[in-house]
Amino acid sequence: MGMTEKQGGSDVRANTTQARHDGRDAWGERYTLVGHKWFFSAPMCDAFLVLAQTPAGLTCLFLPRVLPDGTLNAIRIQRLKDKLGNKANASSEVEFTGASAWLVGEEGRGVQQILEMGTLTRLDCALGTAGLMRQSVSLALHHTSQRAAFGKKLVEQPLMKNVLADLALESEAATALALRLARAIDRQDDPFEALMRRVLTPVAKFWICKRGSHLAQEAMECLGGNGYVEEGGEGVMARIYREMPLNSIWEGAGNIMALDLLRALRHGGKGGTIAEALAAELATARGANPVFDRFAARLPERFDAAVDESEGRRLAQDIALAVQASLLRRHAPDFVFEAFCASRLGGDWGQAFGTLPSRCDVDSIIARAMPH
Ligand SMILES: Cc1cc2nc3c(=O)[nH]c(=O)nc-3n(C[C@H](O)[C@H](O)[C@H](O)COP(=O)(O)OP(=O)(O)OC[C@H]3O[C@@H](n4cnc5c(N)ncnc54)[C@H](O)[C@@H]3O)c2cc1C
Repeated sequence: MGMTEKQGGSDVRANTTQARHDGRDAWGERYTLVGHKWFFSAPMCDAFLVLAQTPAGLTCLFLPRVLPDGTLNAIRIQRLKDKLGNKANASSEVEFTGASAWLVGEEGRGVQQILEMGTLTRLDCALGTAGLMRQSVSLALHHTSQRAAFGKKLVEQPLMKNVLADLALESEAATALALRLARAIDRQDDPFEALMRRVLTPVAKFWICKRGSHLAQEAMECLGGNGYVEEGGEGVMARIYREMPLNSIWEGAGNIMALDLLRALRHGGKGGTIAEALAAELATARGANPVFDRFAARLPERFDAAVDESEGRRLAQDIALAVQASLLRRHAPDFVFEAFCASRLGGDWGQAFGTLPSRCDVDSIIARAMPH
């Protein structure tokens, strides 16, 4: 995908790359592109979807690397970026010096067109982060099950148990939410699931990606100094840590997801409203825990306040937490659901991992998360 230019990534309307109509052939309406892209990942791909300005506005175009006659298209790679992580994915800066590209969809409707792909890549970010979170927790559990300090295995030390259980809860909740979004995307002919897709795409992308970086840092600490070192088996922890923030930045950074949630709530949704759909989703866990009931009951009144942009992140976070709790009620044992509600919804929690209240059944949570 080639969207981001120097002057705008979130606000792609600022794109300046020009597409001039150049006739019609077997591939459809052909255009000539002149301009640049500041981020252009995986430039070795056979083809790209790019945005460029036509007289009708921002338009989506299919840009092959090699033209039908076998010659290279006029895509000039200026340089590859030197990034914090994500090294295996080359990200380039490019210029188009009269490149040929073909119209996708309608002229002037490029953003809507490319966002169809954007919804799926946002799901990728949520799923990928949930996967990295699970890998981090597995590595932390594996290490602490074998390393001893002060006369015991680390996994047997009460404070380490609290950390591991807290990480395991976060990871399971992330997995549940990411897979819930995947289910909604799989069932788009169901009107209820279409509403869930609309609301959960920004919510899951925002919240899971935000939590991923924090979780990776704490899981790294479980490995002690070796977690911070790039070499050896433990080196994978450092790589995960460097990768995590990226899923939060690309495909719509945190604020952009929060603003997208507010837009979804304002526009409601066809064939029922998003507020009603969320209420029905959360009703599946109603009555199971008073903390959850209170938390879920307070959400709808906040949807009306969705005009206040500065509330966007809080609302995205709280919808995520409520949906995660309802999913854990359905798909996890009670000790997971209860600990999640007490800490994440009830406020009986600190501001770092490892601060679960002592009444939580940390042994059972750890046993459930332990890799076999
Ligand atoms: C490794 C990597 C690979 C990438 N690969 C590609 C690629 O292949 N193709 C591609 O098109 N792009 C790619 N990107 C670009 C990426 O999608 C953008 O960087 C991202 O969308 C943010 O755009 P920006 O960098 O211009 O930041 P900006 O749009 O300037 O945003 C900066 C910050 O401001 C916030 N912000 C923006 N608007 C508002 C607002 N109205 N209210 C509040 N806050 C706001 C954003 O949330 C963000 O935190 C890649 C980025 C990275 C890091």
